[in-house]
Amino acid sequence: MTSTLMEQVTVAQVHDAGVVGAGGAGFPTHVKLAAKADTVLINAAECEPLLHKDKEVLRAFPDQVLNGLAQAMRLVGASRGIIGIKGKYHDVIELLRPRLPQGVEIVSLPDAYPSGDEFMLVYEATGRVIPPGGIPLHVGAVVINVETAKNVAEAAAQPVTEKFLTVAGAVHEPVTLRVPIGVTLEACVEAADGPTVSNPQYMVGGVMMGYLEENHQALVDKTTGGLIVLPDDHVVVRRRRRDWAQIARIGRSACDQCSYCTELCPRWLLGHPIEPHRAMRSLGFNLVGEANVLGTSFCCECNLCSLYSCPEDLDPRNVCVQNKRRLASEKRRWESPPFVPERAERHLKNRRAPTARLMRKLGLTHFTNRGPLVERAVSARRVGIKLKQHVGAPCRPVVSVGDNVLRGQVVGVPPEVNGKPALGAPVHSSIDGRVTAVDDAVIWISAE
Ligand code: SF4
Ligand code: SF4
Repeated sequence: MTSTLMEQVTVAQVHDAGVVGAGGAGFPTHVKLAAKADTVLINAAECEPLLHKDKEVLRAFPDQVLNGLAQAMRLVGASRGIIGIKGKYHDVIELLRPRLPQGVEIVSLPDAYPSGDEFMLVYEATGRVIPPGGIPLHVGAVVINVETAKNVAEAAAQPVTEKFLTVAGAVHEPVTLRVPIGVTLEACVEAADGPTVSNPQYMVGGVMMGYLEENHQALVDKTTGGLIVLPDDHVVVRRRRRDWAQIARIGRSACDQCSYCTELCPRWLLGHPIEPHRAMRSLGFNLVGEANVLGTSFCCECNLCSLYSCPEDLDPRNVCVQNKRRLASEKRRWESPPFVPERAERHLKNRRAPTARLMRKLGLTHFTNRGPLVERAVSARRVGIKLKQHVGAPCRPVVSVGDNVLRGQVVGVPPEVNGKPALGAPVHSSIDGRVTAVDDAVIWISAE
């Protein structure tokens, strides 16, 4: 371990550095590290096709990530640390093994989707099943992302002003980049030597759980882990463009209730009461009160049912999400949902969705499946620092137009609610420059 392990990071420093979940969720890390747990897991599963950021960060910064894990274990009082990583990444595992701090082990994960789902990871690594509606803490675990761990290790020295992300798909050179927070997605694609197609579309966060971003000037924030560029007519893009009326109409007429969507649903396999085929049945009726539609509250939105399991290419995921939102808006929840954790033992092993098969199904196999970390200049003459880059309340700006700011300077802090800071984390300038505009969502800073 490096000597920095001896520098003990505090929860307050993790807050002040603006560390949030860098794997896409954006949950403020200081809140997780203020809890007590017996196990801390590093989520290095990275199961979204074509993404390589976590593996590359581990390869380039193994000591910092392990340091962050050791710091997190100390803060939550855990005696056990686990790095969950795909077993096929032999070189990274061999790099880590001789460096492992006391109490830390590596768990090899299958090359399957969604191994990176927190519930799935906790089960694969510890054998514990998180109950429906629960969080890892309910079974004594805290889960943090690889890059988050690195940021924890560095929290005493520097705030979060950079982001690692893989840019892959229809680009000339798939890469993992380290960029200042607040640059545009288009600048990242240019750093991957540009798109190979004439009308590129951007999937932010991955093809399975990410979203289609039509605005190529959208800004990188603390949660942007991947950018997959696809041709305009790619099946993933077309599926994302289906509107709800179309999804419901086709689903109503074409679903034959085969139940494959349920049989392969990772949350159903963990014993949760979600049955997407029954949610599909609800399209024909107004069955939102039915017990099995109440189960849609436990959908993790992994998209496996829609993009892999359903032989008819229907969209049970969106049907579940629609029901889930409706239940939430009506403040309806299943108070004592049935839970069959032994289902995981019985079925999970034989029903995983292999990544290779998923990629064939999604028409991704012709893209180069790698993303080495390269140092590339990404234009950062002007950055936009979003005031909301995390779960919780948007920050309030603490700078004004015309102010000079330095890289790492706080430019926004969580607002106060009832005299206390709201859930969130401060945001910092990622460059030296001058504030040129402040609006409700973004602080714009230009280099002098
Ligand atoms: S897999 Fe498709 S066809 Fe089968 S029940 Fe689910 S939505 Fe219907
Ligand atoms: S998106 Fe589909 S497969 Fe994933 S948890 Fe929800 S219902 Fe299950």
